[in-house]
Amino acid sequence: MAERLTCEAVRDMLSAFNDEELSDEEMSAVGEHLSSCANCSAESTRIADLKRLMQYWNGISPSPSFREKVVERAQREIEHRKMARVSKAVLAVLAVILLAAGAFFLGRHLKQRAEAEFETDLTAETSLRP
Ligand SMILES: [Zn+2]
Repeated sequence: MAERLTCEAVRDMLSAFNDEELSDEEMSAVGEHLSSCANCSAESTRIADLKRLMQYWNGISPSPSFREKVVERAQREIEHRKMARVSKAVLAVLAVILLAAGAFFLGRHLKQRAEAEFETDLTAETSLRP
């Protein structure tokens, strides 16, 4: 592998390069590219830092009380969301009932008014008759 590597090809190999999983030829080709390319070199440093950080976190396990708190909090959150869903459904039903009741009372009011007007007209008509 004597040809020069492109930045894209190097980026694809950086993770394996940091784990030293490449062939000797690839390791030296990538190393050569990194010594002359500031961008890929910075990316390689970022990957190495990230790997160190992940190794650090792998060695840490949360205390049982912390784990309990996280589980408790998650359960509370789930309950809260269930309640929110239920109250949304209740609100929707109430809105439908209110609309139906409103339509019913409006209809009754209009009917009564129409009847009253009809009676008024009738009375006016009869009083006009000689
Ligand atoms: Zn590069």
